[in-house]
Amino acid sequence: MKIAVVGGTGYVGLTTAVCLASKGHAVFCVGRNPDKIEKLMQGIPIIYEEKLEVMLKDVLKRRTFVPTTDLKKAVKDSDVSFICVGTPCGNDGSIDLTQIRGASMEIGCALKDKVGYHVVVVKSTVVPGTTGSVVLPILEKFSGKKGGVDFGVCMNPEFLREGRAVNDFMFPKGAGIVIGEFDQKSGDLISKIYEDFDGEILRTSIRAAEMIKYARNSYLAKDVSFANEIANICHRLGVDYLDVKKGMEMDARIGEGRFLDAGAGFGGSCFPKDVSAIVAKAKESGIAPIMLESTLKINEAQPYQLVELAKQVVGNPLKGKRIAVLGLAFKPGTDDMREAPSIKVINSLLREGCEISVYDSKAVSNAKKIFGDKVEYSEKAEEALKYADACVIVTEWPEFANPKLYTCMRGRVIVDGRRVLNQARLPPGFAYHAIGFPRAVKT
Ligand code: NAD
Repeated sequence: MKIAVVGGTGYVGLTTAVCLASKGHAVFCVGRNPDKIEKLMQGIPIIYEEKLEVMLKDVLKRRTFVPTTDLKKAVKDSDVSFICVGTPCGNDGSIDLTQIRGASMEIGCALKDKVGYHVVVVKSTVVPGTTGSVVLPILEKFSGKKGGVDFGVCMNPEFLREGRAVNDFMFPKGAGIVIGEFDQKSGDLISKIYEDFDGEILRTSIRAAEMIKYARNSYLAKDVSFANEIANICHRLGVDYLDVKKGMEMDARIGEGRFLDAGAGFGGSCFPKDVSAIVAKAKESGIAPIMLESTLKINEAQPYQLVELAKQVVGNPLKGKRIAVLGLAFKPGTDDMREAPSIKVINSLLREGCEISVYDSKAVSNAKKIFGDKVEYSEKAEEALKYADACVIVTEWPEFANPKLYTCMRGRVIVDGRRVLNQARLPPGFAYHAIGFPRAVKT
């Protein structure tokens, strides 16, 4: 099939475009930034995701992947367009549909002169009602054509996880594929794209597809905030949260909930903005979303728990202390720093008057855009740790689990915001602290 991916220079768009091209579809990867499109043409993936670079080079060689800024031509020469543009939240927490409106308008204009049937698929996360009440009318207005007759419309939410984006897209077995269809013909065509993917396909209404994405993200975000609240209580009561977590997971009804890890809270481009958008949508509809608001409130405060812990164990005030912050990305496997807990932790430590050295194997160039020269950037973890009075682990990159890493530290205080380290394996002389780990263990 011939496919245009609009928003192709973003995380979801690029992953979608490269993965569909690897399946043999002819894909136009449409972006607005000519520098990024030029880089893609040269095989430079512009974001970090495992396997992405190799696959990008492969699809460029096979000529199934064409980076372009020409949206009109891409849509005119395609059977399907995927809208993968950003849907951030505005100041009041509600969804900002500016990019969705812009992309719909441009696609509508392109459809005007297009010969043949075409399906527009909304892959961006949008609150229920958006595809039918915003995207469709704009497409109809600017194309002068009728949805469900002259062109098709679907909503196909994306469930990939950053850090495992390529794998999740290529092997959707654990997440399934949801296709919300305006009419059967649209749904049939989009189902065809996914027919050789190993994952169950759910065909449903457009509104249900839109809501499924929010329900899933809200569910998982609520788990994280639940875990953090319980860990905070454990901390105060002198109970090790890891023992409690193990005990909870023994209950088959709870199961091995990977989202029961406590620590610095959730971040990233999805959970915070999606929960906030559905909260705003619920309120607009007259519903008080008490649990979801609490989920956000707990998460907002959680990174500061780490700073409080650092104050207790390094000494209050922290002014003048040198703190190494290990991990900047909002989670391992990505360079994405959107809403990363590290931002709150670092800003708060800076306000306390600390000197900060930071290390992250992938996210430093994004961090430089946020912190400029307010912190020192290190190329190796040891470099960041060397002269530090204490270190705070904010992202659970596997390399931070190596106890030998910390032997170069001047001060021997570790605040582990993700429980990545097994404190029992630390060499003698270290003070290990974590949220939900109330005993300060001197090894
Ligand atoms: P992003 O900000 O990384 O990418 C969006 C891209 O769209 C940007 O590169 C922007 O320049 C481009 N764009 C905007 N308008 C355009 C236009 N008219 N023509 C061409 N390009 C245009 O966002 P993202 O993280 O990829 O997320 C995209 C959507 O997918 C969001 O709705 C998000 O909620 C959803 N989503 C994201 C993830 C994730 O892990 N990042 C996972 C699932 C769903």
